This record gives sequence, C-alpha cells and structure tokens, in this order.
Amino acid sequence: MPLTWHADLAWLGGDREHVDEGVAIVTEGERVVSVETGVRARDRSAVRLHGLVLPALANAHSHAFHRALRGRTHGAQARDFWSWRERMYALAARLEPGSYHDLARAVYAEMALAGVAAVGEFHYLHHRPGGGRYADPNAFGHALLAAAAAAGVRLTLLDTCYLQADVDGSPLEGVQLRFGDGSAAAWAERVEALGAEVATRPGARLGAAIHSVRAVPPQAMAAVAGWAGERGVPLHLHLSEQRQENQACLAATGLTPARLCAAAGVLGERTTAVHATHLAGEDVALLGRSGTVVCLCPTTERDLADGVGEPGVAGRRDRARAPRRHGGAAAGLAAPCRREPRRPARGRGVRRRCRRRDRPRGRRPAGGRGRPPPARLRRPRRPGPLDRGRRRPAGPRRPAGPRP
Ligand SMILES: [Zn+2]
Repeated sequence: MPLTWHADLAWLGGDREHVDEGVAIVTEGERVVSVETGVRARDRSAVRLHGLVLPALANAHSHAFHRALRGRTHGAQARDFWSWRERMYALAARLEPGSYHDLARAVYAEMALAGVAAVGEFHYLHHRPGGGRYADPNAFGHALLAAAAAAGVRLTLLDTCYLQADVDGSPLEGVQLRFGDGSAAAWAERVEALGAEVATRPGARLGAAIHSVRAVPPQAMAAVAGWAGERGVPLHLHLSEQRQENQACLAATGLTPARLCAAAGVLGERTTAVHATHLAGEDVALLGRSGTVVCLCPTTERDLADGVGEPGVAGRRDRARAPRRHGGAAAGLAAPCRREPRRPARGRGVRRRCRRRDRPRGRRPAGGRGRPPPARLRRPRRPGPLDRGRRRPAGPRRPAGPRP
C-alpha cells in the first residue's frame, strides 16, 4: 500500500545544488515510487518530515568487529597503526560466529540509526583459532548476513582473501591463521558456497576483496580479480594505507602497491581502493586511467595516525596523464570511529582546506545564477526551549533609558 511522506525540506541528490521545499515522497514497500517538489502539506494522511531530508547513505568500508575496539586503543600503548593492530588481533582471536552475529547486528543497527542504508563489509575473519574450519566454513559470513538482515541494512559481503603475513611471502601466524584459506583456489571454493544463501536474501550481494598487497601475492591477486570479473561483482582492497607497506612492496617487488596491482590486473571500474593514503603521482594516474574508485576513510586515518592522503590534489598535479574518467570517491567508517556518516566527507573537506589554507565558502553553480537558499534557511533561528535562561551573548547593548 502506498505511503506518502511530506518533507519540509529535502535534498534530492544527483546534480542538484539546492534544497527543495515541500517535497512529497510516495513509497510502496521498500521502493520510492514518486517524488514531487513544491507541494503544500495538505494531505493529512501524509507522514510529515520536519527538518532537512537527505537520501540514505552507503558506508563503503566496514569491519564490523572493529566496533568493539572503540575506547580501548587510545591508552599509553597507543602509538601507530601497528600497535593498534595488536589490539585488533587480540579481539579477533576471541570472536566466534555467535558473538560476532550479536556484535554485528548492534553495529549495523547503529549505522541504520545514523542514516546508513547499505554497507560494504570487508570480511576477513573466516576460521577457527589456529585456522581449522568450522562445520560450516562460512559460519562468520552467514552470521554477518543474518545480522544485516536483522538490522534492516543492505549488505555487500566482500569476502576477503588473506594468504600471507607480509609482502615478502612470510607465512601467516597467530591470529592471522583465522583469516587464511591457504590458496586463492581454496578461497574461491569457500566463497562459491556463500552464493546460494546470498541469492535468497533480497538485501544482500556477494563481492570479493584482496586484503592488501601485504596479504596476497600477485598471482593470487590476479586469481581473485579474475573471479570477481567473471561474476561481475565488486572487488575491494586496502591500498597504500601505510608508508611501511609501500617501502616493503618496493623492496620485495620493485613496484609501488598500485603498480603491482595494475600489473596483476586488479585495477578497473569495479575495483575500489580503500585508503589510498600514500600514493605517488604515477599511482594516481594508474588508478584514474583504470576508472578505479577510491574509498577515503578520513576519520579512520586520523584515528590511526595513518597520514594525510589527498588523491584529488595529486590527481590535479598529474592531470596530463590522469584521465577524465577518474574513478569516483566513496567514504568508509572502518575503524572504531563514531558512526556519524557525514564525518568522513567533512573530514576530507577540512583536510583539503588545511592543505590549501583556504577558508570554507558557499559555492554557486556555473554562471553565478544559483537559486538562493530557501527563506527558512536564511532566517535567524528562533530561540527554542533550551535557550531559556541562557546568558545573552556578549556584544553592544542598548543604553538604558527611554526609547527614541
Ligand atoms: Zn579496512
């Protein structure tokens, strides 16, 4: 049965650079069937939406279990990404499919309340402690699918291949054994078995991920990329998150992580490079030429002191070689940061302004004929109940005495 919603103010997305007033949105089930602007709120049966309405957002990079690290990694031991990783490993060592389901359900519910409707779950915890298989080798994957369905968010399960401890080929050890399938072929065999369940869940789909150039050797990267390409599913990977990763990759292969990925056939329009913090100019051109999307996670990178990457600026420097069809940008909330989905976008803007020493300002569409903001947004805010009893702000006051 159709349901009408009436938004006082709504930004309808796409190329629109203004906010619309009086927006009637008709939904049927989970679908929006019509949107009309400039409508007066006469329909008493409509659900009234006060304030500003935005389209729901997607969190392109999640590790749901990292939520349990919030507030636990900032003590005296906190130094950098690598010290944070020790705490993360200690947590990963304790999780079981049941406890992960409960944790993920709460995390996805928290995202839903923050306005996130779709999540890309970069999932690499697969096996028992020590690396043994569960009776259901995809017990964790099934737990995540069920958790997202219970919380009402759409989930792309990016099942992650993780085969080695470092780019030099050193073997997995300790808790890393829970992440590994032994080979790209064994990874693909396990992931194929997930396909049947994903097909039965309307809000779910399957994707692939390469943990990083540290964790997957080039031949296996090519195999995972081939698997994703044959099925037309998204492929994600962590790329150049750490300087140490870049240095190790150069020492072992003579190539930057981006060049190594390009040589293995990993880059492309279905590929998303997560972080991409420490890219050289040539790396940016490689990503751009291939149409690879970059997923920036400014709040995570700030929290982990990963460094300040700025692919947009680097791309401009390299425009001669960078393509017009530069991949897009997405935002992720991977680390145990606040689930406040506008923060990554705001963080990116703040970071760019700090680099350029450029204060924020409003922008008009080309030609300078932008529609002004709605009158309601231009009017000063009326005092609300919480303002009662507040001290007047400091400033010039009218002198006492009779009014003129
Ligand atoms: Zn990540």
